[in-house]
Amino acid sequence: MLTISELLSGTSFVALATRYFRRPLDFRGALERVAELSRDREARFAGILRHSVFDKPDNPYFALFRAAGCEWGDAEKLLRQDGLESALHRLHEAGIRLSVSEFKAAGVKLRNPRAAHHVRARSGGSRSEGTPVLIDLRFQRDCAASMAVMLAARGGENWVKGDWETLGAGARFRILKLAGIGEPPTGWFSQVDPADPTLPAVFGWNTAAIRFAARLGGAPLPKPQFAPVAAPDAVIDWCQSVLRQRRTPMLFTFPSSAVALCAYANRKGRDIAGARLLISGEPVTEARLRTIRSAGCVPLPRYGSVETGAIAYGCLNPRCSDDMHHVSHMTALIAHAGRLSLTMLHPYAPFTMINVNMGDMAESDSHSCGCALSSRWPAHLREIRSYEKLTGGGVTFLGADVIRILEVVLPEAFGGAPTDYQLVEDETEGGLPSLTLRVHPSVGPLDAEAVKALFLRELTNGSDASRVMTSVWSSGDVLRIERRDPGLTQAGKLLHLHLARRPGNS
Ligand SMILES: [Zn+2]
Repeated sequence: MLTISELLSGTSFVALATRYFRRPLDFRGALERVAELSRDREARFAGILRHSVFDKPDNPYFALFRAAGCEWGDAEKLLRQDGLESALHRLHEAGIRLSVSEFKAAGVKLRNPRAAHHVRARSGGSRSEGTPVLIDLRFQRDCAASMAVMLAARGGENWVKGDWETLGAGARFRILKLAGIGEPPTGWFSQVDPADPTLPAVFGWNTAAIRFAARLGGAPLPKPQFAPVAAPDAVIDWCQSVLRQRRTPMLFTFPSSAVALCAYANRKGRDIAGARLLISGEPVTEARLRTIRSAGCVPLPRYGSVETGAIAYGCLNPRCSDDMHHVSHMTALIAHAGRLSLTMLHPYAPFTMINVNMGDMAESDSHSCGCALSSRWPAHLREIRSYEKLTGGGVTFLGADVIRILEVVLPEAFGGAPTDYQLVEDETEGGLPSLTLRVHPSVGPLDAEAVKALFLRELTNGSDASRVMTSVWSSGDVLRIERRDPGLTQAGKLLHLHLARRPGNS
């Protein structure tokens, strides 16, 4: 049942979204908007500091600035004299920074006071990531403008857009963004069945509201269609129908889903060559790109999150699988020992984020690639890997939750010590995600299926993501149990993709 306030907010959402759908950006307007946002990043960040931190004593950053002895005047002077990135380094050194767990824990206290809350989203994640992300349509529109820069650089102004993920908030957020520039998307696919009666009713209401607003705005959206990862025929049908009209389909999805799609198309002998796959939410590796290209599809890597929008878009002359251009008018990035700290620069971004460590590592430089994105966004990011999160099927789990399961839950249920369990995140030859749960042989005989079931149940407990996880990870046989000494001295509890590949760590 909907509450009155949900109904009211639904009504105001429809009114605002109708206006949004009625006036999508054209490409020229979008590029002008990005140029405007690219000017004077220092002044925009100063505005955020003033409104969201120094005028808001309950904002957690207020206490950090106070503890560092940094007043508003000091911060403003620092920005003017040092420039944005140097100032952020100085603030970072002074303790003005948050880890990803601190950021998640602060929740509503970090909501941007200037942002209006038009769309309720929830970041993909585990139980400790409970704060809904409230999206302002002005932020949404500027995210669409960033995407327009990427599309224009690739000659994609007339591409036909589609989305294939889950039915949750991330998808609605994406559909709005895709509709924000040029023609509205014509393909909307869900990896969970929209007709599944056990899905929370709110999914249906939210989908209905966005489609209603789109129709009122004169930009009707398709009904979300079920396309399971294991048999994505509906997505292939859509790609082929667009290609038959001699147009180019561009589908947003997760890298592992793109791999599953392309491998399936190859297996079934169904041609989708020419389709563009905009992939985000998991590492973009060579193995994944190989499988995508083997179906004749063109991968468009992206790095971002629900909270931040796109942080980087793939270079057109990449040096490696995930060589991307930093979308520098929306965020500032600094790195400490490769670990990225992110600062939001958009006045209507969902959260105040200053030097938030997102749990990702990357290499960065400004080499000249000569591609059409380099003039707007000269800085490159590559080798982007998460070091304290686990990602799969577009769902992110904090390492801390995984470690609790490995150290407490599994030993309690099956015996052994906390050091007897380890999780190794890797991928198959074809680029599909693979997880190996190592259990020390000394733990004694155990039922591998029972271990798997408990691990997945604990990981997804109480989270909207559980259905996705179950479909992507358990049915796809992503998780396997290996009886082997975890060798924890050399590695860690949670061995990630980039670490697992290194010699000596296998
Ligand atoms: Zn480039």
